[in-house]
Amino acid sequence: MTAGSRSRALHAKARSLMPAGVNSPVRAFGSVGGEPIFYDHASGCRFTDVDGRTYIDWVGSWGPLILGHAHPAVVEAVREAAGRGLSFGAPCREEVRLASMVVETVPHLEMVRFVSSGTEAVMSAVRLARGATGRDTIIKFSGCYHGHADHLLVSAGSGLATFGTPSSAGVPGAFARHTVVLPLDDEAAVERAFAEHGDGIAAVIIEGIPANAGLLVQRREFMERLRSLCTEHGALFILDEVITGFRVGPGGAAALYGVEPDLATYGKIIGGGMPVGMYGGRREIMEQLAPLGPVYQAGTLSGNPVAMAAGIATLEVLLADGGAAYRRLEALGERLAAGLRGAIEARGRPWSVVREGSILWLSLGGGEPPRRSENIDPASAGVYAVLHRALLERGVYLAPSAYEVAFVSLAHDEAAIDETVGAFEEALGEAGT
Ligand SMILES: *Cc1c(COP(=O)(O)O)cnc(C)c1O
Repeated sequence: MTAGSRSRALHAKARSLMPAGVNSPVRAFGSVGGEPIFYDHASGCRFTDVDGRTYIDWVGSWGPLILGHAHPAVVEAVREAAGRGLSFGAPCREEVRLASMVVETVPHLEMVRFVSSGTEAVMSAVRLARGATGRDTIIKFSGCYHGHADHLLVSAGSGLATFGTPSSAGVPGAFARHTVVLPLDDEAAVERAFAEHGDGIAAVIIEGIPANAGLLVQRREFMERLRSLCTEHGALFILDEVITGFRVGPGGAAALYGVEPDLATYGKIIGGGMPVGMYGGRREIMEQLAPLGPVYQAGTLSGNPVAMAAGIATLEVLLADGGAAYRRLEALGERLAAGLRGAIEARGRPWSVVREGSILWLSLGGGEPPRRSENIDPASAGVYAVLHRALLERGVYLAPSAYEVAFVSLAHDEAAIDETVGAFEEALGEAGT
């Protein structure tokens, strides 16, 4: 039993009010067992639950909190903005400031539009790609998550280059038939799909670095091939940088791979912990949006001044001092990865730690770390559940799912990393791991 009595009581009440007691499925702890821990307050790299226990947090709200919890500059910016009004539903100064920070930092973002979540950003970018090309089909990759819009909750159909089937009840089969789902890391599969459906493909969408089914780092050649195939066939290349944007560097995964998408989607970090999404790209495509063009998209709370203020304050810290923040994140990420690897080797386990900057994933199978979701060892979920519980008991909070990554923030320090590695060494000594 890891959740304390107050967490358990709240969860019991929550379950009678909300499905599984949560507002997003993974929070229910279903895949690691036990009951969810209810947060009370958080600061830096630690949070305290409603039972008064403190944990080192490696989830960071699933990515947004790259500065850590309740960073003083972000909290102050939010307070100040809130004092001037919570929502205007009209243009405000903060939107212009955040848009100009992003456009000045990321070369391929010539114009942007703000929305309120990553899901909305991707959904809107796909609509824009369809509107701009006059085509309906999109290609996505299995293992990539792009939010929960209908046409992206689709898994591979049978056979190669066939249209997808819904991966959620409630998604019409007719929607899924506009989505082709392919394996990652397989140029030939994408070439075949273009050969078959080329003049019907509006866009190829991929995560900057797939980080929602483990961390499936792609080869540069694969990303470059996606770019060139889109160009050859008049399709748009959409890079979903909701996790990687401002995480793996100021230019996101696009800069890391040296590929220029036509459209990119953002969320998480650019909201600094507030609900913000954003999509952007080439000017002539973005000008297809209403009211300039025929592609409709709108939002009551879009460009919300308080949310924009949190994003601005976050980017100000990240972009100060010529990349010092990213050098620090790299060093912290490497320290954590090296510590975990040392513990794994000492125990003679065949596992690996996959890392890209401040994103880490424990690959609990043998051999080379997978580049495709199909190659993730299904037995790893059970091992992870045991490790997860052993770490929780030692005050270390990893994501409650084997397929989720860990995020290092600037608020993590050497002491928090060493404490985590020590707890991990102990956890590995427990039966069942
Ligand atoms: C989190 C995520 C989304 C969805 O963002 P929400 O804000 O949860 O709607 C989309 N794409 C990627 C790559 C994500 O990680």
